[in-house]
Amino acid sequence: MNVLLIGPPGSGKGTQGERLAARLGLEHLAAGDLLRAEVQTGTPLGGRIADIMERGDLVPDTVILSLLMPRVLAAADANGYLLDGFPRSVDQAVEARKLAELADASPHAVIYLDAPREELMRRILARAEIEGRADDNPDTVANRLRVFDEATRPLVDYYRDRGLLHVINADQHEDEVTADILKALGVE
Ligand code: AMP
Repeated sequence: MNVLLIGPPGSGKGTQGERLAARLGLEHLAAGDLLRAEVQTGTPLGGRIADIMERGDLVPDTVILSLLMPRVLAAADANGYLLDGFPRSVDQAVEARKLAELADASPHAVIYLDAPREELMRRILARAEIEGRADDNPDTVANRLRVFDEATRPLVDYYRDRGLLHVINADQHEDEVTADILKALGVE
C-alpha cells in the first residue's frame, strides 16, 4: 500500500507517519527529515536550502523531486510507502504523478490531518522547547502556516477530486488519530 500524509505544521504528520509505517510495514519517507539531514551533514545541497528552510519557505521543486522520487519509486517496488510532507503543492503532485504512474507507484490513499490554527500554534511552540528546530520560532511558524494555506491546502481538493482523500480530525489524542486513520484505510 502507498499512502500520502498531508497536513499543516503541527498536525502530527511526523508522529502519525512513524506509527503508521511501523504498523503497516511501509517505508516512512519524511520530506522535512530528509532535507534537515542534508543541512545537518553539510552537503552542498544542504548549504543551498538551509536559509530557505529557516524562513519556512518551500525548497525548489527540482530539489525535493530529485531527493524524494527515487526513494518513493524504490519503496513502492518493495512493501509500499508512507510519505509525509510531500507533495506540498499541486505542481509537485502533478510532477510526482507523471513519474509514479509510469512506475506503478501511485498513492492508494491520501490522509489529511485537520486541526484548528490555535492548536497547531500551541503544539509547534511546545515542540520548539523540546526539539529546538531552527524553524519552530513564532515568525517562521506564521510563514509556514501561510505557505501551507497558499501552496499545500489546494491539494485537498486535488485529491478529493481523484477520490483518494480521507479527512481525519487531528485535534484529539494521538492514539485516536491513529485509530481513525487505520479505519479510513480499512485496516483493523
Ligand atoms: P516539515 O518537517 O515537513 O515541517 O518540513 C520542514 C521544511 O522543509 C519546510 O518548512 C520546507 O522548508 C521544507 N520542505 C519539506 N517538505 C517540502 C516539500 N515537499 N517541498 C518543498 N519544501 C519542503
